[in-house]
Amino acid sequence: MKINFPVSYFLVVFLCLAAMELGADSVSSSTWTSGGYQTSLISGNGKPGRITLALISDGYTAGEKDKFLRDAKRIADGLFTSNGFKGMEDLFNIYAAFTAAKQSTLNRSSGETQFTADIISGDPKDEKKLIAYIRKNFPAMQAVMAIANSKEDGVGVCTSDFKFAIVPSDADFSLSIAIHEAGHLFGELVDEYAGSDEEGPNVTRNKMNPPWKGLSNKTPIEIAVDDDDPRGSGYFRPSSENCVMLDNEETINFCAVCKDVLRKAIAALENGKVPLDTSPLPQ
Ligand SMILES: [Zn+2]
Repeated sequence: MKINFPVSYFLVVFLCLAAMELGADSVSSSTWTSGGYQTSLISGNGKPGRITLALISDGYTAGEKDKFLRDAKRIADGLFTSNGFKGMEDLFNIYAAFTAAKQSTLNRSSGETQFTADIISGDPKDEKKLIAYIRKNFPAMQAVMAIANSKEDGVGVCTSDFKFAIVPSDADFSLSIAIHEAGHLFGELVDEYAGSDEEGPNVTRNKMNPPWKGLSNKTPIEIAVDDDDPRGSGYFRPSSENCVMLDNEETINFCAVCKDVLRKAIAALENGKVPLDTSPLPQ
């Protein structure tokens, strides 16, 4: 899910981080402390030069630390079962970072997570606060995904230029949601579902000359105005093929165009061809 801040206050924004590789000392032990988080490597060999992703705890009490580590590991491993990431494990270092919450959010039903409640206070103006928080606590990460201790599907992410996402731990489709958000984070893919009105590498208003021309000869499909309104929106997705950017209840896989865009973007990130965003905080 990719939702703009003013539209849905409890869903968060993500942006591109200034990235510094973790120093060798940081990764030589299995667990270390960073910004009040107890951090451990859960996927990858920890060596510099890899894409860095932190999965951070959101709403887990001290007694739920093991649950968080299990949830983070399940999501980290699950990413690589999708066709967008399969076989790319060696390009990533994925870390789990835990800090204890005072109260568990597992049975909270409001859709609000610890992060959205405490860090951004549900206030769009606090986007700046969120960015500062992530940069301060996770300066070495290229992307940060908060694992919300939650059964609610409606815990998602939005994007501007800062790579941050929130995904639920215990929703029916947690893994698909995580993979969908990772499509935003690493491929800059946009939503393909009804109501989507953002152009990107996988959605266009230019049906005759889409950005994926040359990648696919399939007929683009017009996105509906809304789930309840089948009229065409003027925005087109690459084909009738299912895609986790379209429907994250049905699949963990990407359509051919999204898969290609994502894998190329990941390879470019890993090769250092894509500079990471070091722009100043928004004023
Ligand atoms: Zn797609």
